[in-house]
Amino acid sequence: MLQHKTFKDVVILGGGTAGWITASLLVKLLGKSIRIQLVESDDIGIVGVGEATIPPILTFNAALGIDEKTFVRETKATIKLGIQFENWRKTGDSYMHAFGSIGKEFPSCNFHHFWLRSQQLNMGYDFWDFSLGYQAAKQHTFAHLDRIEGVNLPGLSYAYHFDAGLYAAFLRKFSESLGVQRIEGKVADVVLDELSGDVKTLILASGQQISGDLFIDCSGLHSLLIDKTLNTGFEDWSHWLPADTALAVPCASVDPITPYTRSIAHAKGWQWRIPLQHRIGNGFVYSSKYCSDEEAKATLLANLDGAPLAEPRKISFRTGRRLKQWHRNVVSIGLSSGFLEPLESTSIHLIQSGVLRLIKFFPNHGISDAERDEYNRQSKVEFEQIRDFIILHYKLNERSDSKYWQDCARMDIPDSLARKIEVFRHSGRVFREQDELFAEIAWQQVMMGQGLLPQDYHPMVDALSKEQLQELLGNLKAIMQVTASRMPPHQDFLSFCLTP
Ligand SMILES: Cc1cc2nc3c(=O)[nH]c(=O)nc-3n(C[C@H](O)[C@H](O)[C@H](O)COP(=O)(O)OP(=O)(O)OC[C@H]3O[C@@H](n4cnc5c(N)ncnc54)[C@H](O)[C@@H]3O)c2cc1C
Repeated sequence: MLQHKTFKDVVILGGGTAGWITASLLVKLLGKSIRIQLVESDDIGIVGVGEATIPPILTFNAALGIDEKTFVRETKATIKLGIQFENWRKTGDSYMHAFGSIGKEFPSCNFHHFWLRSQQLNMGYDFWDFSLGYQAAKQHTFAHLDRIEGVNLPGLSYAYHFDAGLYAAFLRKFSESLGVQRIEGKVADVVLDELSGDVKTLILASGQQISGDLFIDCSGLHSLLIDKTLNTGFEDWSHWLPADTALAVPCASVDPITPYTRSIAHAKGWQWRIPLQHRIGNGFVYSSKYCSDEEAKATLLANLDGAPLAEPRKISFRTGRRLKQWHRNVVSIGLSSGFLEPLESTSIHLIQSGVLRLIKFFPNHGISDAERDEYNRQSKVEFEQIRDFIILHYKLNERSDSKYWQDCARMDIPDSLARKIEVFRHSGRVFREQDELFAEIAWQQVMMGQGLLPQDYHPMVDALSKEQLQELLGNLKAIMQVTASRMPPHQDFLSFCLTP
């Protein structure tokens, strides 16, 4: 059914990362056609923990026209070249999901097939010898490098760690400068249109009324509009991802500031470590069915690099997604739309891609059910693909030190993921689904990092003799190591950003 109305007045509920990302991109791209009001409550505050990102954030910042130096200075950001997974396969084991490519791409045959052959020949190379991101992360170096000079190889891919509160403030300043109107207050009631069932007006505790055509629910885990008002259903994924609680605590910085996130598995959960300029963000993610809050707190506090700067803060969540992320005239973006634990730092990306999708679908003189359905279908696929990638880390663990990890290794997994694992196990092949966020190289790193070594490799590799393979790999390894070592220290980049 086509709903004939104009969508000129947009109301965003929530001023966390989701609210201000939404406001900033909407005003930048549609600011001349629509009016945007954003309601937030300082009393309620923001969740304030999303501090690690992935490389598409660079595209988002470029779309807004953000200057990197200003951004890094104002959000106290550092560079992120990947995530180091420690103890995830088994205790004492470690690998990195490094950003960017690894080795050299050949038509129809991924580089890791060459490495697999070298393993059979006992050549002694580590897969990450060929990752520029990994080598730079380990040497704490960084440079803007699109391609490696002199050889036709891709350069360094990166993202940021930043302070979540400062990031929201940064985007607020940006959005307000372009005309977004911020309204402080707590929504006490929501009025629906009697005929259509659409949201018509938000009523604040102060009595102020805010009406609009389109409402964007960025109210975080409160899900005030999409859930509490419209009762849009929720698909629960906790049988695959049982973690339901996090404790977050900042601690004092230590040198050097590492340009990568650490994800450290402990007996009953995992810990994140996100280094910023002024502090380290830490947290422990666990399932309340397997770990008490006291145990979680003790584990977290015993594994900090610096003195804690606050009491650990508890955040409870439910893993899964809203059945319809766009329902009636409400679009949910951010934590209100669903949640996947922060293992691969995907939530901020999901916000950015959600807003971009909304802009692509933005109604002019009406919206049809078919369009809304298509929006919801695309969001569903995106969430499910990321869900599978996160489950992969748990499913492939080989830990035997707790029931938590053993249950994760034994659990049934979605068919889509089981298929992917089986194809890779047999022949090392992995395929990126259309528009999937994580490319083949990400899947390869996590699958092999978690100990899943394929039984076979691509026959194209045998076109090279043993000597030619040795020469190829030896050269590539040297190129990555020399390139990483010639880059300046990561700290130099931070110092440069701090100079006026
Ligand atoms: C433990 C944990 C770790 C995470 N780590 C990462 C990470 O490393 N990387 C990543 O990408 N993502 C991460 N995330 C996700 C990330 O934090 C969120 O996606 C991001 O912060 C967006 O949150 P939000 O804006 O949806 O919600 P919030 O920050 O909670 O904002 C909600 C807003 O709604 C307002 N509000 C709510 N109710 C009302 C009301 N009644 N009236 C008025 N205003 C109201 C609040 O005032 C607030 O402004 C993590 C999440 C968790 C839980």
